[in-house]
Amino acid sequence: MKKTMSRSIAAFILALAFLAGLGYLCFRFFTENDLWASQTYNLYLSTGGGLTNAGTIYDRNGEVLAESDDGERFYHEDMSIRLGTLHTVGDDSYNISTAVQTRFRSQLVGHSLVFGYGLPDSLTALNKMTVTLDADACGKVYDAFGGKEGACFVYNYKTGEILCMVSTPAFDPQNVPETLPDGSYLNNCVSGTYTPGSVYKIVTAIAALEYIDDIENMTFTCEGEKDFGGNVVTCMDTHGELSLDDAFSYSCNIAFADMATLVGADKMQKVADRLGVTESFDINGVDSAKGHYDVSDADANQLAWSGVGQYTNMTNPAQMAILCGAIANGGDAALPVYMEGAEAAETHSLLDEDIAERMNEIMRYTVSGHYGETMFGGLTVGAKTGTAEVGDDIEPNAWMVGYSTDEDYPLAFAVVVEEGGFGFYSAGPIARIAMIESAEALGFEAE
Ligand SMILES: [Zn+2]
Repeated sequence: MKKTMSRSIAAFILALAFLAGLGYLCFRFFTENDLWASQTYNLYLSTGGGLTNAGTIYDRNGEVLAESDDGERFYHEDMSIRLGTLHTVGDDSYNISTAVQTRFRSQLVGHSLVFGYGLPDSLTALNKMTVTLDADACGKVYDAFGGKEGACFVYNYKTGEILCMVSTPAFDPQNVPETLPDGSYLNNCVSGTYTPGSVYKIVTAIAALEYIDDIENMTFTCEGEKDFGGNVVTCMDTHGELSLDDAFSYSCNIAFADMATLVGADKMQKVADRLGVTESFDINGVDSAKGHYDVSDADANQLAWSGVGQYTNMTNPAQMAILCGAIANGGDAALPVYMEGAEAAETHSLLDEDIAERMNEIMRYTVSGHYGETMFGGLTVGAKTGTAEVGDDIEPNAWMVGYSTDEDYPLAFAVVVEEGGFGFYSAGPIARIAMIESAEALGFEAE
């Protein structure tokens, strides 16, 4: 009797263990269904690419960016749009981490727990996906890069919708070349970081407004170069005596090296961290690349250069656009999203309203007094260019970042062109096209 009893207990424990294991498996299958279906080693999907019957991807205007027909995947008929939307739409592989066809493939191929992969036609509407991009804007911006590498990002800082997200180099997903250009899987808007050069003066100016008491009445003197800690910081010009507004719009290195020195390393670091330079943002579930600002071991000369956006500074294009959005929007900006209706955009508070308003004056003055109001087709734009030195014998990276304050076109942008040379001449024309095209998608008519 005792023996039977212990046998029964052993059998009971075994059964319990089996059920627990089965339960765990079921739990994982249900909770990680998407993950399982999108694993590259999933044989069903990896044979035939898995996209041969996948759903259609549309842009914000209902333009078809990718669709399947008769067992084949077709992308937009315009090659510039195919390349300009590559990092949002994706290709057949799983290598472009920000792409819809990578991240949402199981939904696109209609994988369902009930029907498996054989989802009935009546339910295929579930497979359709819409992104917030404007296809035309992406195509035109792609062309504007003219073969140069870099990133162009435009988004609505009130709703978070990304209208233009172009990363180069790209490749044609319809006719994938045998050898891909280096870095073409990477979405530079979200995953790239670059030496910021003078666009970093936005961060330094904010630090100066927050921490230098008399900044509004101060002047800075530029004689073309100045000694900081035994080594010089050089300027592109000899600017003479400058107010904060003029120092910013003339992009005087000496004035901003002075500001970083007056603010001090600890506070420069604190402001950089709070403004998101060193932070990663959640962009529809993808973590953006963190920039870099670390002056903990910097000497006086390095701290001075860090205020000018050199030293070891790195920034991410999407983060710079978010910062510009916050300046235009009284200190708060929505975080970017590219899936239509995916989730409500989160608002991110970066700076106080009075500082945001003051920065807006300075950046508006830079456009009206220096770049020219006509540059953006009648949009009310505040901006800053940058020409970031990245090494001897290499052309500098060209930047332009900014925003429009027009009520109906609340757009912020960041453009970087690798080895582009001067920011204004290289990144400027791309920024112009990106902003005008994106605003037109919201109903703007350029003058
Ligand atoms: Zn100067």
